Amino acid sequence: MGLRAAGRWGLGAARTVLDTLLPAHCLTCEALVEGPGQFCPDCFRTASFITAPLCLSCGVPFVHAPHGTMVCDACAIDPPPWGEARAALAYDAQSRRLVLGFKHGDRTELAAALARMMARAGAALLGRAEVLVPVPLHRRRLLARRFNQSALLARALGRLSGVPVAADALRRVRATAPLGELSAGARARMLDGAIAVRRPAGVAGRHVLLVDDVLTSGATARACTAALLAAGAAGVDVLVAARVRSPR
Ligand SMILES: [Zn+2]
Ligand SMILES: [Zn+2]
Repeated sequence: MGLRAAGRWGLGAARTVLDTLLPAHCLTCEALVEGPGQFCPDCFRTASFITAPLCLSCGVPFVHAPHGTMVCDACAIDPPPWGEARAALAYDAQSRRLVLGFKHGDRTELAAALARMMARAGAALLGRAEVLVPVPLHRRRLLARRFNQSALLARALGRLSGVPVAADALRRVRATAPLGELSAGARARMLDGAIAVRRPAGVAGRHVLLVDDVLTSGATARACTAALLAAGAAGVDVLVAARVRSPR
């Protein structure tokens, strides 16, 4: 073990000891809780867990259970290329704090907590998944942020479910500008050909579960799904930590 590795190990061990000695804070507020990775009772009550009835296609929660079909209007008009999608939480102020704390802060331990919620919401999808594939981050952004949040979620889900993870199955061929303000059509054009499968043998003939932190327009997940299907994936489902309520 080199000096740096030893230093890192020492820091990791010290953190583990501190984690067990220091009181744990709620995932989204400063309240003390029994153990790490938990909501306090108030935050648990207000957390927007997505439960049935929901659109099987995109995971958007229905206010009222629709008659017959379990697909929302947006998916009926423009069906996504993936099979089914699920999200653990609706994207609101509270889940935003959770996801941003995980994405931009150093609270990577939130990955385990989010993965547990995702495993509950996506149990059916995890059950048929043969490989977990995270949405890739462009290398330049990866350097700036030091980690790919989707890969952390995929690895945490892999540990929970035993499904293998192909963390680098997909890659961004080119960096794309933030998609925030663009229309659905403009997003799709921007992402066209932006994502490629690095090793088709790793996904060919397999049922893939694509993992991401937040589903907004679904444009990125569509581009990833198209690339995976073109590489011969047997099927693709999508599992995210949080999704916006009205996608389009
Ligand atoms: Zn709380
Ligand atoms: Zn839908």
